[in-house]
Amino acid sequence: MLLKSLELQGFKTFPDRTTLTFHNGITAVVGPNGSGKSNISDAVRWVLGEQSVRSLRCTKMEDVIFGGTPARKALGFAEVTLNIDNTGRQLPFDSDSVSVTRRYYRSGESEYLINKTNVRLKDINELFMDTGLGRDGYSMIGQGKIDAIVAARSEDRREIFEEAAGISRFRYRREESERR
Ligand code: ATP
Ligand code: MG
Repeated sequence: MLLKSLELQGFKTFPDRTTLTFHNGITAVVGPNGSGKSNISDAVRWVLGEQSVRSLRCTKMEDVIFGGTPARKALGFAEVTLNIDNTGRQLPFDSDSVSVTRRYYRSGESEYLINKTNVRLKDINELFMDTGLGRDGYSMIGQGKIDAIVAARSEDRREIFEEAAGISRFRYRREESERR
């Protein structure tokens, strides 16, 4: 699965609409301290549905919205879109390209979209389940994540293997049907 591009608008240090295009191979982000490099990986995490403000390095969800500078007013909402190449159909969605969008307003209202259609957070989570890419996937390895995996309880570590083996979906469905 290939990430094609990331579009940011009003997210943390990106008040203007900014598009980052990823090509084949490795992309490295370089820049001075505090210039917004980690904010890019926060944006990927966020658009994939992250709900933990701590792992987004915020104290409240509103902190993801550009907060203004002496020269520039704060904005009213943040929006991030991740464009994914799905020609190999790794995502269970019948389209060669899949775009996921998340919007958050200062009022507290959230929006999630798949290919420009409004969906629920649940749909985003289900889309990425068993792909390793979702909110609880292992493709984003943050600082301290390796230590956490090594130190994890065996049941928690098992979840990582279940996601990699592609069986999280079945456990999820069973739990969903038991809840009804
Ligand atoms: P380092 O090299 O130290 O890891 P970095 O390039 O990863 O730095 P980030 O952590 O991505 O930097 O960016 C930190 C900057 O983002 C800080 O200056 C902080 O003020 C700014 N920032 C974070 N949230 C917002 C926001 N909501 N509005 C405006 N600026 C923000
Ligand atoms: Mg950083």
